[in-house]
Amino acid sequence: MEKTAVADLDDSIQAAAVMRHLTEPLGLTDFAMNYYELEPGDSFAFAYHNHAVQEEVFYVISGIATFETEDGPVEVAPGEVIRFDRTEFQRGWNRGDERVVALALGAPLEYGKQVKLRHCPNCGEKTDNDLDRADDEAAVIACCKECGTETGRWYRGSMEGEVP
Ligand SMILES: [Zn+2]
Repeated sequence: MEKTAVADLDDSIQAAAVMRHLTEPLGLTDFAMNYYELEPGDSFAFAYHNHAVQEEVFYVISGIATFETEDGPVEVAPGEVIRFDRTEFQRGWNRGDERVVALALGAPLEYGKQVKLRHCPNCGEKTDNDLDRADDEAAVIACCKECGTETGRWYRGSMEGEVP
């Protein structure tokens, strides 16, 4: 048995005001679980992405989450759940005025190969990206795999990263 309080956990650097990994504190072995709070403009992810082997579910507790999907934008209201298959591209946002609180669950634990599409100003189109930590671990940086241009940078509790 494991028990933890979300409020006691450290924030991870994400494109969201609050993101707390529950996987490690609970010792989960077969699925991933993350707690999110998104301010207006925040996102669940760094990019429009898919996972090669992990399917993912989001349960919205409050606020309205809007997911970019292969079928266009989909709004998810409190009490609603959305599921993405392994290869489906998606990225969830808070496009509303109210903070979004949600849980994300993914199984199995590993993502497999991820494709992370972001607009590259140099390539002039959406390209796959690498995510890296800055040397001081204070930021996450996305760089275009085609040309190396930085396409986004996030700090703890920061909103969608702006190209510097
Ligand atoms: Zn590029």
